Amino acid sequence: MINYEGKVVIVTGGTRGIGLETVKAFKENNAKVILFGSKQETVSTAIEKLKEENIEVEGYYPNLNNFEEVEKTISEIYKKYGRIDVLINNAGISANKTIDNTTCEEFEKIMKLNVNAMFNVSKAVIPYMKEAKNGVILNTSSMVSKYGQPAGIGYPTSKFAVNGFTVSLARELAPFNIRVNAVAPGITKTDMVASLPKETIEPLIKTIPLARIGEPRDIANAFLFLGSDMASYISGVVLSVDGLARA
Ligand code: NAD
Repeated sequence: MINYEGKVVIVTGGTRGIGLETVKAFKENNAKVILFGSKQETVSTAIEKLKEENIEVEGYYPNLNNFEEVEKTISEIYKKYGRIDVLINNAGISANKTIDNTTCEEFEKIMKLNVNAMFNVSKAVIPYMKEAKNGVILNTSSMVSKYGQPAGIGYPTSKFAVNGFTVSLARELAPFNIRVNAVAPGITKTDMVASLPKETIEPLIKTIPLARIGEPRDIANAFLFLGSDMASYISGVVLSVDGLARA
């Protein structure tokens, strides 16, 4: 077991899927966890659902594209707990239309959440981490950040940017003992994937050498490791957690 006792962890996009499982994994390892979601209802639903499993977390829903709002929320959290140890930038959306069917607004929307929001939340926590001379920033990338995908150009574009942000920020923040890494999941069984018919899933599994779809816990475990002192000499990596899938 990795012990996060006394540590404060923020997970964006923590209301469902990979983010929610990450929240649970950090709680099981004694962290104080704060989840961010896109709106009040989804945050309340996630908190209630966790309560039924005897998991107590706090939730916020700042507009991640509004830096002042994000900064205010992060400052509230810092005032309350006096520290922010791990930030997991996990909120993200994907796309699947061809470029000729993608509007400029759709492209911009995906970049704004997957890239600009990651910048905003990181920028807001970094002063506290710098002051503490300690911190970890983890970003959710994707397998498509290495191989691209045949449609939905905004998604791989944004995830290549996530990797660039990760590797570069790791260099900038290393002198402050702040580590920055990313996890690049392959196809992972969140609600959307779980609801796909067998006929769609089975051919997909055939392309994965480890012969299964990823579980949200597979990704959460990678975050648990990278956020911990066991990974204290690891920074600037994009860790594939994809069953060796090569799109
Ligand atoms: P999901 O749709 O189940 O969850 C997405 C989360 O992002 C939710 O908590 C939601 O509240 C949050 N979010 C969405 N729009 C938001 C907004 N405008 N503002 C704030 N928060 C917002 O998705 P998931 O599959 O769990 O994906 C989580 C991350 O993993 C994403 O970054 C995604 O790109 C990445 N990923 C997923 C897979 C997969 O197969 N599921 C594969 C590779 C990478």
